[in-house]
Amino acid sequence: MKQADVVVIGGSAAGIPAAITARRHYPGKSILLIRKEKQVLIPCGIPYIFGTVGAPENDLIPDGVLKANNIDLVIDEAKDLSPKEKKITLASGESVTYEKLVLATGSFSCVPPIPGIDKKNVYPITKDVQHLQNLLNALKDAKDLVILGCGFIGVEFADECKKNRDINVTIVEMLNQCLQIAFGEEACKCCQEVEDYLAEKGINVITGVSLTEVLGDDMVTGVKLSSGKEIKADSLIVGIGVRPNVVLAEKAGLAVSKGGIIVDTTMRTSDPNIFACGDCTSKFSFFTGQPSGLRLASIATTEARIAGANLYEISRKNPGVVGVFSTALGNLTVAMAGMSAKGAKECGFDVITGEAEAADRHPGGMPGMSKMWVRLVFNKVNGELVGGAVRGGPSAGELINTISAFIQTRMRANDIATFQIGTHPAVTASPIAYQLVNAAEMALKNMNC
Ligand SMILES: Cc1cc2nc3c(=O)[nH]c(=O)nc-3n(C[C@H](O)[C@H](O)[C@H](O)COP(=O)(O)OP(=O)(O)OC[C@H]3O[C@@H](n4cnc5c(N)ncnc54)[C@H](O)[C@@H]3O)c2cc1C
Repeated sequence: MKQADVVVIGGSAAGIPAAITARRHYPGKSILLIRKEKQVLIPCGIPYIFGTVGAPENDLIPDGVLKANNIDLVIDEAKDLSPKEKKITLASGESVTYEKLVLATGSFSCVPPIPGIDKKNVYPITKDVQHLQNLLNALKDAKDLVILGCGFIGVEFADECKKNRDINVTIVEMLNQCLQIAFGEEACKCCQEVEDYLAEKGINVITGVSLTEVLGDDMVTGVKLSSGKEIKADSLIVGIGVRPNVVLAEKAGLAVSKGGIIVDTTMRTSDPNIFACGDCTSKFSFFTGQPSGLRLASIATTEARIAGANLYEISRKNPGVVGVFSTALGNLTVAMAGMSAKGAKECGFDVITGEAEAADRHPGGMPGMSKMWVRLVFNKVNGELVGGAVRGGPSAGELINTISAFIQTRMRANDIATFQIGTHPAVTASPIAYQLVNAAEMALKNMNC
């Protein structure tokens, strides 16, 4: 029987920062992390295995980070949990006792109940090295690849799979535009450019139809769409979202819902000595307090830092999910934080928006310049920022994080119009054309109209 003061189950985006945070806050405690896989993939890097980074081994989280933080590692599967005995039973038969436990068991990919979905060469996206290696091998001889789902994961997979391969790539999306769930009304500006980019790369995007059947005997040979059209396919990638892994928690009698393991704002489960974080937990919106279905590594790490800090002494609270996304295709970056104007209206907010576009260097002839467009969405009643979208070059990735910080600190249009910025010709927009400031000014102007 093993014993540790703190045990974390799960070794990915939630488990690792939970263990590291526990180490930082409770230096005297022994910490043990249990995970079932030998090697852990960087989940957000998975699409790049099929192009830019080239192999699963080039997309791994190094175990050194655990060693450097004096965290013991056990590679095994937790099969049972007894909250009463504070004991975990592993697949190997070994058991582990704890004082405090963090569940970071993640999620499973969703597989829709479509006839034929269990055929060979159908690949739901799982965070598993061998599974992804098998897909990589299958793509060597593939001629026609179909991807189900045109969210961030679908577009990234399509772009990467097309790189250096003579292959036809088709994305099938039920909604009317790609990335529509993330971008809402802002989809028009951002998503059209994404679709243009994909078209330029020769990637076929079919929107507004669903996939109704996977064709073929043993192996997939094609797919049938709700429009009646059939498309040839020798591989099918399914990227339509995830569902929380609550298996262990449910068996242990912890409170769970459809949205995941139920946690309070301190990330504590229904057992005061068990915390949970990441894809496996239920979530609520920062804006409305209503349940949220978002599952992101950035959310997982934030929750993990709250859980890890609160284990023996509550010091952090979860304000709810803001929802910050970004993706990059070639030189184009699109990003979104918080609510779109349409989403905010649907939640009952009266909103006003402001937009600004300018070069992200000054003068515009400086190397590496991209045009950067920003849209900010404000609550008309109190002037607080509730959302933002950015489209531009690589600098858009960090700008959206600034917008997220503004949202979380409930900054108002006037605060943003006068916030103090640092600018430099080689790395930012000019202080005169600074997009965040000018978008806030435009919103103030619109508020007064
Ligand atoms: C292709 C792809 C691209 C993505 N891109 C982004 C992105 O760009 N940005 C972003 O923010 N998010 C992205 N995400 C989402 C992100 O990957 C997830 O939100 C994140 O992985 C959640 O982390 P987690 O630790 O909660 O769960 P997981 O990553 O699912 O990890 C769960 C861990 O628990 C372990 N485990 C589960 N059950 C047991 C058990 N019984 N015993 C032992 N171990 C167990 C697993 O083995 C694993 O180590 C992407 C996801 C995918 C699939």
